[in-house]
Amino acid sequence: MKVVAGDKPRLVLATGNAGKWREFQVLLQGLDLDLALQSDWNVEACPEPHSTFIENALAKARHASTQTGLPALADDSGLCVQALAGAPGVHSARFAHEGGERDGVQRGRSAQDQANNSKLLRELVAVVERRAHFICVLAAVRHAGDPEPLIAYGWLHGAIVHEAAGEGGFGYDPLFLLPDVNLTLAQIPAERKNSISHRACAVRHLAQLLQTAWGIGSKQSPASMP
Ligand code: IMP
Repeated sequence: MKVVAGDKPRLVLATGNAGKWREFQVLLQGLDLDLALQSDWNVEACPEPHSTFIENALAKARHASTQTGLPALADDSGLCVQALAGAPGVHSARFAHEGGERDGVQRGRSAQDQANNSKLLRELVAVVERRAHFICVLAAVRHAGDPEPLIAYGWLHGAIVHEAAGEGGFGYDPLFLLPDVNLTLAQIPAERKNSISHRACAVRHLAQLLQTAWGIGSKQSPASMP
């Protein structure tokens, strides 16, 4: 696989979000890998029309790989509420504005988050069963037609509170209760969230797959690519 930047294997992260890229950089820092950002190639946004996280993640990874000619990594994540049969699920980002702007640029991210949170509380107003989880699915491909994509999963289990609490985080964090500590994700330090999150779990899983399937080495041992 011709994926080296200098002597390191290179992987394009299929997002234009520099914050997400930094988070992945930290989580993958043990691996001898050059993680690039797809916006450096002017990759156009990829549609996410599918009904499952895995299909959307794979579509984004293939799209980034097609447009850059490099191996690519994509993520898809969301909140699944048990009493709502897994909703908002793949529609988490645009739950309150189905069919609206996917990235929230026009309304502003926090306004969109608030609208999503209000809708979720309304839908659960008389609901006693409030279990929910976040899921993150990662897909990595060596090339756009890779018949063996790596798929990694991570979950964070909790429950939906009756009233938003906390100022930190983003998205549904003020509604997501961690029962062990009786605090929402928006009430715990960012470092704590980043170590237990669905994304962190999925990236840890992916790091194992990158080592065993693609032979990407840890920084202590030289990388040997297939
Ligand atoms: P995406 O994976 O960036 O497309 O995120 C989809 C949506 O899921 C986000 O816009 C949020 O609404 C929600 N979401 C994903 N991860 C989190 C999280 O860690 N906290 C809160 N909301 C999240």
